Amino acid sequence: MKAPSVKPNLRINGERLWQSIMSMAEIGPGDKGGSRRLALTDEDKRGRELFMQWCEAENCVITVDDMGNIFARRPGKNNDLDPVCAGSHLDTQPHGGKFDGIYGVLSALEVIRTLNENNIETDAPVEAVNWTNEEGSRFAPAMISSGVFAGLFEKEFAWSRTDVNGRSLKQELERIGFMGKQRCGDHAMSALLEAHIEQGPILEAAGHQVGVVTGGQGQRWYDVTVKGQDSHAGSTPMTGRKDALVAAAELVGTIQQIALDNAPQAVCTVGELSVSPNSRNTIPGEVFLTIDIRNPDDHKLTEIADTLGQAIASISTQHDVSIEAREIWYIPPIQFDPDCIAAVSDAAKSLGYKHQEIVSGAGHDACQVCQKVPTAMIFVPCEGGLSHNEAEHAEPADLEAGCNTLLHAILELAGRS
Ligand SMILES: [Zn+2]
Repeated sequence: MKAPSVKPNLRINGERLWQSIMSMAEIGPGDKGGSRRLALTDEDKRGRELFMQWCEAENCVITVDDMGNIFARRPGKNNDLDPVCAGSHLDTQPHGGKFDGIYGVLSALEVIRTLNENNIETDAPVEAVNWTNEEGSRFAPAMISSGVFAGLFEKEFAWSRTDVNGRSLKQELERIGFMGKQRCGDHAMSALLEAHIEQGPILEAAGHQVGVVTGGQGQRWYDVTVKGQDSHAGSTPMTGRKDALVAAAELVGTIQQIALDNAPQAVCTVGELSVSPNSRNTIPGEVFLTIDIRNPDDHKLTEIADTLGQAIASISTQHDVSIEAREIWYIPPIQFDPDCIAAVSDAAKSLGYKHQEIVSGAGHDACQVCQKVPTAMIFVPCEGGLSHNEAEHAEPADLEAGCNTLLHAILELAGRS
């Protein structure tokens, strides 16, 4: 039975949130107004230290695990309860923006600041979290520390990842002083919420301030080789050719059509194409291309893969070429926790924000942690859907709306008196 909030008028301080995001952006500034704070660099260290300093000023108790993940705890009334956590990442892309990740960490801090200044006691503790190396641009793969936390990667594997200069993730954790004592994955959580900019155009186009994220898309990746026959461009008649590029071109168009037939949820992309022998007067005998298909519904994803298989068979017959499509990666769609989704949705509704359900097109720490802990996400619009770009921008009013939604969802999940 849900108790009505005793603090329905409680709001975060949007100006303070904005100023904190701007102060963080001054550490490792980019050339064009964004940020460059790659994981475990000196800039990341300074960003982490500023975050911890802010958390300590709020009397939070800080724990760092052996993947460098930071947990800042505001105690509750009953500290035997597992904490309700919120957070994201402070690291950025080389030409990153000021909001991707940072917003989620600092909005969790803003919730704690708001609870403190209003003397609100929650039943369960509340924690702000910073996950290490979400971006994956210095140490691949991305979302590695939330992945270790969720048991999806071995810690030894994560520690052994190296940057372009051969420095390992473990060495760099030690160098910047963030090799914590707690074993990664041991930190208990009752729930995790991640607020994040959408990194896509849907909310902005709909005029909605809050996206209630229900899950992440499933993905299937293929390596495709089309084999025909190299032959002279002048002396080979148009009939009887085995032109691998003409077949591949038809395949590219067909994939586009399959996605459009399953709009708006399906997205399909051919992002790589190489033609052999790539000579202007030889009919191409071989083409390599990649296919990336995504859908939030696993059944639909399989259906699209089947349709693709039929299209490949028919194109191969029609053009007298062989087409081999090898699936190299599959991740099933992610469903976030119904109670966490409801907490976010109820909060957005009670605050009167225009909101909608949405599926994440990108990967996030929450998509890893949800394998282990009840999880949901909150999206806010970003200008033009642009991210991983120094020009990335989000409106202060939207950031404030998302953070208020986070506050009330946390109050719901952590209980309050
Ligand atoms: Zn991010």
